[in-house]
Amino acid sequence: MEDKYNDLKTRLIEVNDLNAAAALLYWDQSTHMPPGGAAARARQMATLERLAHEKFTDPAIGRLLDELEPHAESLPYESDEASLVRITRRFYDRETCVPAEFTARLASHSAECYQVWAAARPANDFARVRPYLEKTLDLSRELADFFPGYDHMADPLIDYRDYGMKAEAISAIFADLRAELVPIVQAITAQPPADDACLHKSYPEADQIAFGLDIARRFGYDFERGRQDKTPHPYTIKFSLGDVRITTRVKERDLKEALFSTLHEAGHALYEQGIKMDYEGTLLARGTSSGVHESQSRLWENIVGRSRGFWEHFYPKLQAAFPGQLNGVSLDTFYRAINRVEKSLIRTDADEVTYNLHVMLRFDFELALLEGRLAVADLPDAWRARFEEDFGLTPPDDSDGVLQDMHWFAGMIGGQFQGYTLGNILSAQYYDAALQAHPSIPDEIERGEFGTLHGWLKDTIYRHGRKFTAAELTERITGGPLRIEPYIRYLRTKYGALYDL
Ligand code: ZN
Repeated sequence: MEDKYNDLKTRLIEVNDLNAAAALLYWDQSTHMPPGGAAARARQMATLERLAHEKFTDPAIGRLLDELEPHAESLPYESDEASLVRITRRFYDRETCVPAEFTARLASHSAECYQVWAAARPANDFARVRPYLEKTLDLSRELADFFPGYDHMADPLIDYRDYGMKAEAISAIFADLRAELVPIVQAITAQPPADDACLHKSYPEADQIAFGLDIARRFGYDFERGRQDKTPHPYTIKFSLGDVRITTRVKERDLKEALFSTLHEAGHALYEQGIKMDYEGTLLARGTSSGVHESQSRLWENIVGRSRGFWEHFYPKLQAAFPGQLNGVSLDTFYRAINRVEKSLIRTDADEVTYNLHVMLRFDFELALLEGRLAVADLPDAWRARFEEDFGLTPPDDSDGVLQDMHWFAGMIGGQFQGYTLGNILSAQYYDAALQAHPSIPDEIERGEFGTLHGWLKDTIYRHGRKFTAAELTERITGGPLRIEPYIRYLRTKYGALYDL
């Protein structure tokens, strides 16, 4: 058994190496590659991904799993060996379910659709991308049908990012959350918006980057095993457990942009850097779901990085870094500015309170499109109507409406957005559990210390990688399933104080 287990690991590590090489090519493409490299780079990444897929779906891996499973079942569920076999089986079955011919067709359509969208968005031309999006919807349904036995057609698509979550359960959670959020948003936006002029002075790029990196380091991001570069859209990427990189973008006249994107990506990176080293190169060596991953980026960015206590410590340092811009601006004014709530058009710019309404709108439309209740042709009108209902705002055009996110135009329709809101909900639930274990955490944050919180998260979440599903992890940490109450309580407490609700 030992030999077979090692054989499986060796094969998985080879697959991982091909994927890591493709990831490095992607990172280079978005950070340093000259434009002339684009055409060959797309081909090079596709070649590596195809080879990785071929190696992973090799029937020899299926045979090894067949032979290892009886032994794995005799081991404790959470042993590394049993977990590796279990998780590999899940991915192997999923990858072998989908014919290679379909995967190639989807990839080439996605690439084409993305190109058309990239031109259509600035031109405000939904009609141009509409036939491509219709084909994406057909392909998304075709993909779901490779996984028979689902309750909702979105379920197998949701599994790609948030394994085990079901459309019906998510809809119920979102409906409860929406009922709580809408009155809070209305009460806040009935008041004049917070003055955030202090964030929109001129802030030199190098100083902004230095300040963000210093906080990431204090959070516990290990620069011996990471680095930060600039990209148009910030993300975190891992080539090995010893090399987890983050990216950011800087706007000279918006202090929030680089600072909070750095804290957000640092949260993702802390998760990946915290995974047990023994898992290197296997399917266990990754965060377990989009929702749990987002719970960590949001916890560090928002619950910690947008809290009053955090800035009690860091605001004097920020003032020292930018004296001309911030001397004379009180902590109170700054704290209100970074937590300004407003009805806005763009999801990625939205504040903590309104953000989830943007996500729910997209999630509901994904279900309606898959079910055939909504036609792609009617999507822009449906978007405007729902936006008016939820935000009291009408998007002036499709560029800042239905065309704003690349997700549907670069992949599939279904399972693309729920993780962001699941992450927000889980961030509060996990943080509550951390406080129960260590009531001293808020005092430490006020002193600029994060070791206890980081250590607890590493121990309860990060080190396990993909060993437990999101639901299993939440059960282990909180003793129950995902619940919206801690998140609602968090928002009510924080914004109740800020807006005298
Ligand atoms: Zn994120």
